[in-house]
Amino acid sequence: MHPLWRGMLDLLYPPRCEACGRLRQEPICDECRASIEHIGPPVCEVCGQPFDPRAQAAPQCAECRGRRRSFSVARSAAYYDGPLAAAIRRFKYDGQLVLGGPLGRVMVQALENGAARDLDPATIDVVCAVPLHESRLRERGFNQSEVLAEAVAEAIEKPLKPLLERTRPTAPQVDLPASSRVRNVQGAFAANLREVIAKQRVLLIDDLFTTGATLRECARVLRAAGTAEVRIFALARPVPTWRRAGADARALAREHRVD
Ligand SMILES: [Zn+2]
Ligand SMILES: [Zn+2]
Repeated sequence: MHPLWRGMLDLLYPPRCEACGRLRQEPICDECRASIEHIGPPVCEVCGQPFDPRAQAAPQCAECRGRRRSFSVARSAAYYDGPLAAAIRRFKYDGQLVLGGPLGRVMVQALENGAARDLDPATIDVVCAVPLHESRLRERGFNQSEVLAEAVAEAIEKPLKPLLERTRPTAPQVDLPASSRVRNVQGAFAANLREVIAKQRVLLIDDLFTTGATLRECARVLRAAGTAEVRIFALARPVPTWRRAGADARALAREHRVD
């Protein structure tokens, strides 16, 4: 777009922060960016589930302990909460592709500041995004996970390849109870055998890690196709209940001036 048109459009529709709606130059304003909470240790060494530092001593969570996983390690950059959650919804459901850059940077930051260091990107061979089914892709116009994966691949200087295909459309996981999510994605993905190279170590990217059902299924398919290892990296995961309860209690204490 010609800068003059851009300028006129900005006068008519001044740019606003996509998370809080205040007038700002950046798609996510400084205040909103500062409020994004990266997930640091202690977390489950396998799936990255954040532990209550006052309670947990074991290295693995109850779901991972003694269980074989299709992925070797999963990490998420930040908590799905507040402005970040708002920005992710605007990105995914309102087609605000302009948020791809700032949201990708949240992931890159987590690699740089150590929150996601266990992903050891130096030993990754190839980056891959969770694919969307063609019908969803047409509707949305872009694959949000691929946009994030592009940012990560560029930052760690590894190739981004379409290693997976979605073979059938699925109901959005967000609409389903946790108990139905595994079945919903079973057999929904296939390896793209033109792209998969045996024994490679894959970094698999998605926007959200909730129950992990989609990512586990993708990792299973990639392993079955001959890759050596799949590590998972998501932009965000839900705030665990222990943390939410603590935050609510702190807010309450502030409001009522008690300790
Ligand atoms: Zn804002
Ligand atoms: Zn775990």
